This record gives sequence, C-alpha cells and structure tokens, in this order.
Amino acid sequence: MRASFLFAVALFAGTGHGAPRAQTIGAAPSAQRTQLLFLGSGGGPPLNLDRSEPSTLLIVDGRPYLIDCGIGTMRRMLEAGISSETIHTVFFTHLHADHDLGLADVMANDFFMLNQAGSSQTIDVYGPPQTRQLVDAAFDYITYGFRAFAAEPGAIRSGLVNGVLRSPFEAHEIQHEGVVYQDDKIRVTAAENSHYVLMQSPANQEMKSYAYRIETPHGVVVFTGDTGPSDAVTRLATGADVLVTEVQREDQIKAFVNRMSEQNNWSPERTTALMNHMTREHLIEKDAGEIASKAHVKALVLYHYDAANSAAYVTTVKKYFAGPVFGSADLARYCLGPQSGSFTACPSTAR
Ligand SMILES: [Zn+2]
Ligand SMILES: [Zn+2]
Repeated sequence: MRASFLFAVALFAGTGHGAPRAQTIGAAPSAQRTQLLFLGSGGGPPLNLDRSEPSTLLIVDGRPYLIDCGIGTMRRMLEAGISSETIHTVFFTHLHADHDLGLADVMANDFFMLNQAGSSQTIDVYGPPQTRQLVDAAFDYITYGFRAFAAEPGAIRSGLVNGVLRSPFEAHEIQHEGVVYQDDKIRVTAAENSHYVLMQSPANQEMKSYAYRIETPHGVVVFTGDTGPSDAVTRLATGADVLVTEVQREDQIKAFVNRMSEQNNWSPERTTALMNHMTREHLIEKDAGEIASKAHVKALVLYHYDAANSAAYVTTVKKYFAGPVFGSADLARYCLGPQSGSFTACPSTAR
C-alpha cells in the first residue's frame, strides 16, 4: 500500500524539473545520419522465442519515428537504450495483430514518463482507418492500471483533467494514397499494397494496408509493410536507397499451412484460404527480390521472417536482386549516410 502511494506521487507529482530527461538518441556527430533500428524482425502471429514482432525505428538526425509496433517492441526499446517517450510520431502500415499489439506497452510507458516529467507533449499516431479506435481503446485499456494511482490522496494529479486521465495520444487516419506526412526531416508517401487483396466487401472498404516511402536528408527508405506482389509497391519503391521488405520461404509456408491444418482438423477450404493468404498477400523470396530489382532500389533489408537461418533467405533473394541484401535481426542497426546513398550496418560508434 505504502509503495503504491509513493508510486502514485511519483507518477502524478510532475514537478517539471528534476525528472530524468529524455535520452538523446545517437550522439553528435554520428547523429547526422539516418538509422534503421530493428526492434522486431520476426513475423507473426504466433509469437517467436527469439524475435519480436514487426517494429522498426527510423532515426533521422537523432529524431526517432516508429514504424509498426508488434509485441516485444517496448522490451527491445529498453534493450536498445531508447526512451519510448522521445518518439513523438508513430506510423502503422496496417492493423494486423502482429503489427500493433505492442502499442499499449509503449503508450503506458509514454504516459507514465510524460506525467512524471509534467510534460504536455503529444504523441501522434498515423495509420489506416480504424487507427483512432485502436489508439483510443489502447489508452482506455492502460488507464485501468493508472486510475488507482491517480485516486490516491496526496497525489498531485497532473494527468487528470476534470477527473479523467488526459490522453497525450493523437490518432491520424490515412484515408488516401499520396503524401501523408511531412516535417522538417522527413516526407512520407503512402501507397496501398496488396496485403488485403483477397478481403471481401465491406471489410476491404473499412481496412487498408499501406507501404510507405520515407524521404530523409540522407536518402529514401521504403517499407513494403505486409504485402503480396504489388505494382503499386514497386512504383513506390522506384529508385529508393533502401527497401525494407517482408519475406517468406515458400517451403516453410507450405509446411506451416499443412501443420496448422492437420493440428486443427481444418476443412480443405480453410486450408486453401490460409495458403492463398500466405502466397498472394505475402512475399516469398523470389517476389521480394523481383520487386527490388524492378524498382532499381540500391539495397534490400529483409524482415518479418522466420527466426531460423536468415542467411538462407538472403542467399535465395540474391538470386533475384543484384544489390546488397541484409537479413535483419532484432536490435540490428543500419546507417544511411552521412554520404548520400551509403547504406551499411552501423559502426558501433553510431549508438
Ligand atoms: Zn505481419
Ligand atoms: Zn499483416
């Protein structure tokens, strides 16, 4: 009880000074570059033992932007020395569970830290239709854990407005393709990919899945999101310095679908439906390499794949794409710049 009270005071006292300052990500001079930090390089569901679900931090001149937020994101941020509340902009490619179920963890940490610092900082979350519902639901969910602290006598409730916990999170739903975000560091262009191509009406009008092209001072990074083969993604990626792509192995897809079918006594129709999803709404190695090749990107980074043997994916993708191919792991960092277009694993000094 006593510990709980002290925690509440710490949470809501918000002196405005003396609170731990947000960590600077990447000290000068190494900050003058664009970094890709993979917080989650696996796919899902189900969860993997060794890899978190999809989540990537794009850090431009030290400013972090989060792209997707699967389960395990917050833990990986802690391991990478990232303070989640320093991330003021989040983008969702789509709202599949493996890409968004880590959001509540991050929001809870943000909410706690911002309140502790007495900060009125807002955090903007961009994503497809239904992102507002997702963010509002996640905030409602985390407030159950904080309301009791706020109700303790003696707590200075800076997080409360008219007795209600104020949300610092602002959702922005992306309804159309084109330029969807711009600030002094990046410009983001969205294109609808083919991840929901098999979805029936009316769901396919209510849900969208995007690929993002992000222009930075040091080059262009394109995220496929989850997608099947897609001319729209190929066009969006044209000439990019880096393409971050999901990838699946054809033989593993077949083994996975057959295993699921046998374990759960699925009908042939249900089995075929999953197989169609995996082959038409995701990219096998050949597809990923061909998109990169057709789009003339300069480098390819693989993620959203199986934990076992990423080198085998790289080897196969290289048959279809002549440029450098990187198989990411959780906490892997890649640096773009400071010379325009140079892309490689970050030197250990660029932390
Ligand atoms: Zn996914
Ligand atoms: Zn998906």
